[in-house]
Amino acid sequence: MDTTNPQAGDAPVIDLLQLYPRDMNIYGDWGNVLTLRKRLQLRGFEVRLHEYNPGDEFPDQVDLIVGGGGQDSGQNKIQTDLLALGGRLKELAGDGVPMLVICGLYQLYGNFFKTHTGDIIKGIGLLNVDTVAGPSRLIGNTVVESSEFGTVIGYENHSGQTFLKEGVQPLGTVTKGEGNNGQDGTEGARYRNVVASYLHGSLLPKNPAVADFLIRGAVLRRYGSFEDTPLEIPYETEARLTAAARPR
Ligand code: GLN
Repeated sequence: MDTTNPQAGDAPVIDLLQLYPRDMNIYGDWGNVLTLRKRLQLRGFEVRLHEYNPGDEFPDQVDLIVGGGGQDSGQNKIQTDLLALGGRLKELAGDGVPMLVICGLYQLYGNFFKTHTGDIIKGIGLLNVDTVAGPSRLIGNTVVESSEFGTVIGYENHSGQTFLKEGVQPLGTVTKGEGNNGQDGTEGARYRNVVASYLHGSLLPKNPAVADFLIRGAVLRRYGSFEDTPLEIPYETEARLTAAARPR
């Protein structure tokens, strides 16, 4: 189908789900949803935005999932609900649904997060990663080199140190900042169409290559083809250049 020039009223639809916006949405993570919606709309798609909080009904049709970071307390609040939803999310990820999870949700997509008080917040194990709080928070502007996305720019603020296990690739290598754990130079994780990262800021307005990867995956999965109209958005370029020039 022609997804670039739809007639009014019959625009192709993408169902975008934001996971736990009430408890997991800090340091500008909401901007990821706005970026995906805008870039989809500019390409002629209608975007149905679903917000999923604990206890809500999970929609039948989901093409793209985004989730943000949160305080340890926010992670505690969603833990039970997330564990119940884990099977569904794994199924969707296995079926190629693109997902972006930042910081606190990245940790809970993994096996567990052991907080600085020694509590274990269990994760869903969609990503084979373990997270343990370190002695000090890892905070600051961050630059990552990724073979898939080029230079990725963002801001990190986390106590958890995440270690990648078998079967999970990093998103990239840090050239400024600490990334997953401040020790092995890796940042984030990649599995199927899942992108996990510590980078807030928001991530996507400054990193359109990542946004378009998620969009392409969602459109291809739902419609079978994707016309990759390049989008030049001046304030995205400005945000990217400004962020890249910031000191740590
Ligand atoms: N609470 C987690 C930590 O401190 C996640 C923080 C975040 O999402 N920014 O590691």
